[in-house]
Amino acid sequence: MSSDAWEAVIGIEIHAQLLTRTKMFCGCALSFGDPPNTHTCPVCLAHPGALPVVNREAIRLAIVAGHALGCEIAERSVFARKNYFYPDLPKAYQISQYDQPICGPGCFRFLTEDGEKTLGITRAHLEEDAAKLLHLGGEGRRANAEGSVVDFNRGGTPLLEIVTEPELHNGPDAASFLKQLRQTLVHLGITDGNMEQGSMRADANISVRPVGATGLGTKTELKNMNSFTYLERGIAAEVDRQIAILEAGGTITQQTLHYEPSTGHITSLRSKEEAHDYRYFPEPDLEPVVPDRAWVEELRAALPELPIDRRERWIREYGLTFEDAEVLSEPVQLGDYFEQVAALAPPKSTANWVRGELRALLRDRGQEPWESRVSPAALAEIITLVESREISMPSAKAVLGHVVEHGGLPREVVAALGLGAIQDEPALVAIVEQLLADNPVQAQQMREGKDKLIGFFVGQAMKATQGRADPARISELVRERAGAG
Ligand SMILES: [Zn+2]
Repeated sequence: MSSDAWEAVIGIEIHAQLLTRTKMFCGCALSFGDPPNTHTCPVCLAHPGALPVVNREAIRLAIVAGHALGCEIAERSVFARKNYFYPDLPKAYQISQYDQPICGPGCFRFLTEDGEKTLGITRAHLEEDAAKLLHLGGEGRRANAEGSVVDFNRGGTPLLEIVTEPELHNGPDAASFLKQLRQTLVHLGITDGNMEQGSMRADANISVRPVGATGLGTKTELKNMNSFTYLERGIAAEVDRQIAILEAGGTITQQTLHYEPSTGHITSLRSKEEAHDYRYFPEPDLEPVVPDRAWVEELRAALPELPIDRRERWIREYGLTFEDAEVLSEPVQLGDYFEQVAALAPPKSTANWVRGELRALLRDRGQEPWESRVSPAALAEIITLVESREISMPSAKAVLGHVVEHGGLPREVVAALGLGAIQDEPALVAIVEQLLADNPVQAQQMREGKDKLIGFFVGQAMKATQGRADPARISELVRERAGAG
């Protein structure tokens, strides 16, 4: 069998830290980078007798996320104790949700170059994060450490765990899905989505089966992928590994794996025999969550346009390509900026200017369009001046450069710098005739059919006018005056 005889089956689990002010079950502030153990209390340190209280904002964010994921919002959901013993968990259990999650089955739509795809969402539930272990010595690795200490600041941070159906079949689709899921959650203010800092993490469940088979093969779990590229590469490496084993007549062992991006190697973290038995049971210290249905509906109605709908609208109404729409939609401020310009100037040209010239000019200054001196109205004016041939492209770039540097209104910059297109037809004719006279050899070759030389004359004319001539008009004049047809 060759590798196209196999089909990969992939499901993703995402943990996203919610953007609440306080922890999931106590009033401690959430913080990143504060001194260790400065945001703790009897609840998140698990002192005997301390009781948890559910964070209402976390419930609200979970419901908003559920709506965006097309999920059913449960009438009644229940917190459960997930028991395991580890130093990052002072209660020796994590409060999570088990058989009654807050968000039930759903369907997430995402866009790929082949069009819209959907991925089934199994569930999304709330839980608290564990504390952070710091290993001292041995380069911070547990195995070689002299000792470990615990920072409880992160302990009790609200997490939303989203579990998808095993319906993906390749790494690129998995990365597209995760990218757009992240974009949607960030757009809705549910998480900051910072994968490097770990506020969003993804695991992939991977198995392979012969093409045409309907059952599922034995799966492995690839843990904690913190970038889209690693997710894509990790999946490819694991799919290849499984196929190689099966083709050699071996069997897949169910286990948890780590993908090392620097080497591309996959190593085992633990096998099924070591897997935990969490002995879930309902959390007796917390009431079930029974959200008011009017509130749930209110949150659904208040949902803004989702990133996928925005992208599809741009492609449909503005004629943008998939790539234009992808680049311009992230981050959301860039999309807002683009839309403000596109309301005043032709959208397709707007997309080219924002993606091309504007970002290139601003990159050197470390600025983003929406924080630059180029207001949407100013950029729209420059584009309009070009489209109406009032200024040439080189002049437009000069005007934009000036506005980036000093601000100002494009029309006034054009007047002040004398960049207006030369509309004086006799003057243009004179320039062209002079050029033809000065370059008789090239003029003759052009007449004999060497069309490329038109570009030479246009270039010379642009030079002579400091870029203020309309190249299209010059090109016409060159043909006309040279009799080149
Ligand atoms: Zn606390």
